[in-house]
Amino acid sequence: MFYAKLVAPMLTGPALTQFRKNLLAWFAQFQRDLPWRRSKDPYRIWLSEIMLQQTRVAAATPYYERFLERFPDVQALADAPQEEVLRFWSGLGYYSRARNLQKAAQQIVALHHGAFPATEVEALALPGIGKYTAAAILSIAHGQTLAVLDGNVARVLARLQAIRGDLREGKRWQELQKSAEALLAPSAPGDWNQAMMELGAILCTPKSPQCLLCPVNEFCAARKLGLADTIPEKRKKRATVELQLAAAVLLDPQGRTLLLPPPKPKAGPEHKADVGAIVSRMWHFPTVVKARRSGARDLRDYLQESLLGGRRLPATFERLPRVRHAVTYRSITLQPFRINLKKLPQLPRAKVLPLSDLSSVPISNLTRKIARAALQS
Ligand code: SF4
Repeated sequence: MFYAKLVAPMLTGPALTQFRKNLLAWFAQFQRDLPWRRSKDPYRIWLSEIMLQQTRVAAATPYYERFLERFPDVQALADAPQEEVLRFWSGLGYYSRARNLQKAAQQIVALHHGAFPATEVEALALPGIGKYTAAAILSIAHGQTLAVLDGNVARVLARLQAIRGDLREGKRWQELQKSAEALLAPSAPGDWNQAMMELGAILCTPKSPQCLLCPVNEFCAARKLGLADTIPEKRKKRATVELQLAAAVLLDPQGRTLLLPPPKPKAGPEHKADVGAIVSRMWHFPTVVKARRSGARDLRDYLQESLLGGRRLPATFERLPRVRHAVTYRSITLQPFRINLKKLPQLPRAKVLPLSDLSSVPISNLTRKIARAALQS
């Protein structure tokens, strides 16, 4: 409550003009050379925005380049088998992004002759495109005066005005959106949005903002009040759920293993121990939630009763190094077991692949870690 009185008014008049000038000049001089900044093609900008939603620039860049080589335009993405799209996304995580990207590409081909829509309303009707993404693509590719607001920009705006409290709280977020729109430089909306994001990414960072180097520090209320390090307040995170799993690496004498197909989503709210969600709805090793300490019995019961129709398995499963993994709020400890078989079972829809190269199907990072544990032991 105390800090509510310290909120600084939005800039207007000559101060606003100077603010815009400073930030745009800084961006022109110091922006990072990123592959998606070399093009105004809405498809490339869209792809980068989706990849960067949950992924850091350094991690996303090689994926971005490989993805574009294989799917150079909307039509190529729309026409591709979904499995292949997921394979090129494999390792980036949050696979619903890739699924929505392709669904949106198919809609663009069907409804917009393959060209990314030019209006905000039409862009927002596409799967996986929210207000932020629509504003980013349309301002950068088409120069539309739409202001972006994401976590980075919200942090910058909150500090500039010394706004306290949870920035994602509905009303506060709406106020930040209004601030973003009021500051937007109408002569260069694309550069402006990128400049605000760049400032948040490289100087006005969550920890230890570099205010001395900041091109707009003279306008910053948080800096003047000594609050730059304490704004924004930390959000309350969803409590982490610890999960114990066991997985089977079935192996034949030729070094081949068996993967199960992507699980279908279940109706209703997602269960915290939904194996389908844990393997990102990709190809995966047979996996169970552990009910007992070792997990070997749970796995044996599952394999014999649900998967192999009573087929006998070796008396002992070879325990492999444990794998740790985190997916959103889940913290997973997984015990893999190697099970050597003379012949792998033939299961409808399952795939038999060399354990040393699972790259022909989309797999999650968890599956990749299990394969690595099996190969290294
Ligand atoms: Fe962020 Fe510091 Fe610049 Fe304010 S002065 S906008 S806190 S980097």
